[in-house]
Amino acid sequence: MPETIFSKIIAKQIPAKLAYEDDRYIVIHDINPQAPAHVLVIPRRQIATLNDLSAGDAELVGGMFLVAAKVMKELGYADYRTVFNCGAGAQQTVFHIHLHVLAGRPFSWPPG
Ligand code: AMP
Repeated sequence: MPETIFSKIIAKQIPAKLAYEDDRYIVIHDINPQAPAHVLVIPRRQIATLNDLSAGDAELVGGMFLVAAKVMKELGYADYRTVFNCGAGAQQTVFHIHLHVLAGRPFSWPPG
C-alpha cells in the first residue's frame, strides 16, 4: 500500500502534535483545524478506506470511538462531532482511515 502522510507520522518521519497514542492508535491534532478542537484518530495499521475493511476489523474500528471519547474527555468536551470521509468524492484526501473528531463550536445539520 502506498505510504501516506499518516504512515510517515506514525513512523515518526515527520512531526505532528500528538494528543494520544497507544499500541494500536495515534491521535493527532489536525494541521488545518475546522473547529477549536479537531483531532484525528488513526489506527497504526494502514487501511485505505472504510470500503477496505473486513469483518475482522470491527473491533479496531469500534476502538477508534472509544479513543475519541477518551481524548474528548481529556480535552474537556462532552459534545463533539465524529466524521469518516470515505472516498475522494466524500473529500477523503489521506488514504489511511481516520476518524475526525471536532468540538468547541456549534455544528449544523445537514453537514456540508
Ligand atoms: P480527509 O480529507 O478526511 O482525508 O482528512 C485528512 C485530514 O488530514 C485533513 O483534515 C488534513 O487537514 C489533515 N492533515 C493532513 N496532513 C496533516 C498533518 N501533517 N498533520 C495533521 N493533520 C494533517
